[in-house]
Amino acid sequence: MVDFSLTDTEREVRDWVRTFVKKEIMPLEPEVLRRERRNEPGLTHDELKSLQLKAKESGFWGVQTPEEYGGMNLSAVMSALLEVELGRSFVQFRFGGYADNILYDANEEQKKRYLEPTIAGDRISCFAITEPGAGSDAKNIRTAARREGDEWVINGEKTFITGGNEADFTMVFAVTDKEKGADGGVTCFLVDRDQGWRSEYIDTMGEWGPASLIFEDVRVPHSAILGEEGKGFELAMRWIGRGRYMLPARALGACERLVEMAIDQANNRVTFGEPIANRQAIQWMLADSAVEIEALRWLVLNAAWQIDQGMDSRHAQSMAKLYGGVKANEIVDRVLQIHGGMGYTRELPIERWYRELRLLRIYEGTDEIQRRTIARNLLKRHVSISGTLG
Ligand SMILES: Cc1cc2nc3c(=O)[nH]c(=O)nc-3n(C[C@H](O)[C@H](O)[C@H](O)COP(=O)(O)OP(=O)(O)OC[C@H]3O[C@@H](n4cnc5c(N)ncnc54)[C@H](O)[C@@H]3O)c2cc1C
Repeated sequence: MVDFSLTDTEREVRDWVRTFVKKEIMPLEPEVLRRERRNEPGLTHDELKSLQLKAKESGFWGVQTPEEYGGMNLSAVMSALLEVELGRSFVQFRFGGYADNILYDANEEQKKRYLEPTIAGDRISCFAITEPGAGSDAKNIRTAARREGDEWVINGEKTFITGGNEADFTMVFAVTDKEKGADGGVTCFLVDRDQGWRSEYIDTMGEWGPASLIFEDVRVPHSAILGEEGKGFELAMRWIGRGRYMLPARALGACERLVEMAIDQANNRVTFGEPIANRQAIQWMLADSAVEIEALRWLVLNAAWQIDQGMDSRHAQSMAKLYGGVKANEIVDRVLQIHGGMGYTRELPIERWYRELRLLRIYEGTDEIQRRTIARNLLKRHVSISGTLG
C-alpha cells in the first residue's frame, strides 16, 4: 500500500532542513542576487563549503551517500522531500558529501582517486555526453577513443557540460567501437583536467554557464575506464536517470515559495479600490497553481516511492520530469503576472526563477523526449494507463 505519511523521525529530518533553509540560506538571497547581477557566482566555493560543514555538524552530509562512505543513505522519498525544501530558495545550496551515482562503479584505486575526494568535496566532477551534433540523440556521439598499446587517445568536443569550467576531472563518454556504437561500443573514461582537456565557458540565460570540453589527442591509461569497456552508454543512462525525480522536486519547492509570494501580493496590492485577491482572474491563477503543485508533489513522490520499492520507475520519473518542467514554467509565469511590472524587475527574484526554471524543460531529457518515452511505454504496452495500482 502506498503510504506517504511521515514517521516522527522523517518529519524531524524534513523540519530540520526547512529551518536550515529559513535561517541559513534565505538570508543570503539579497546578496546572492546582487552578486549574480554583477555576473559573479552567487555563492563562492568557500561559502558553499562552510554552509555544508555547518549542516554536517547536525549530521546532514551525503543525503544519498551510503553509510560506509559517511553518508545518510536516505530513501528516495526522503531525498525528494529534502530537495523540495532546498528548492524553496534560489540560492544554489546543496548538501556536501555527494558524488555522482556512477562513480560507485569505480574500482578500488579509482575510488581512492575520484569517488572519496569527490564525497569529501576536495574534487569536482562533471558528466560529459552531449556534443554539438548529439544531444537528445545521445547514441549519435562522435567523440572517439582510439587504443594505442596500454593507452587510449581521446578526440572530440563535448558541449553544455554543467560544472565543466570548475571540474578538475570529467566522466567523458567516447566511442571505442564504431560498429557497435551505443550498443556495446561506448566507454566512459575518468579524465583529469591536467591530462589535457580544456573547457570554454558558454553564456546562457541562466546565472551560471556550462562549458564546452575540448579533447585533442588526450592520452589516458587503460585504467582510466570507469566500469567496463563498451558499457558506457548504460552508465550514462543511469546517471541521467538519477535526476528525473530530483529536478522536479527542486522545482516543486520553488513553485511553493513563488505561489506564497503571489498570495501575499494578491492580498496586499490594491487596484480600483480593492485587493487584486478579490478578482476571479487572480484567484483562478492561484487555484490552478495550487492544483498543479499538488499533482506534481504526488508525481514526484510516486516516482521516488517506486525507486524505494526497487520497481522500474523510469515511466513515473519521465512523467514527474515532464510535468514538473511544464507546470513550473506556467506557475512562475502566473506569479510574475500577479506581480505586474514589479514581477518583471530585477528587484524581485521572480525573473531569475523564470529563467532558471526554463532549463528544466531542456536538460536531462527535453519535454519532447519525456513524451516520447511515455508514449512508447504505452504503445508497446510496457505500462498500463491505469498506473501502478492497476
Ligand atoms: C544549461 C545546460 C546544462 C546542461 N548540462 C549537461 C551536462 O552536464 N552534461 C551533458 O552531457 N549535457 C548537458 N546538457 C545538454 C542537454 O542534456 C541537451 O541540451 C539536451 O539533451 C537537448 O539536446 P540538444 O540541445 O542537442 O537539443 P536537440 O536534441 O537538438 O533537440 C532540439 C529540439 O528537438 C526536439 N527533439 C529532438 N529529438 C526529438 C524527437 N525524436 N521527437 C521530438 N522532438 C525531438 C528536442 O526536444 C528539442 O526541442 C545541458 C544543457 C544545458 C542547456
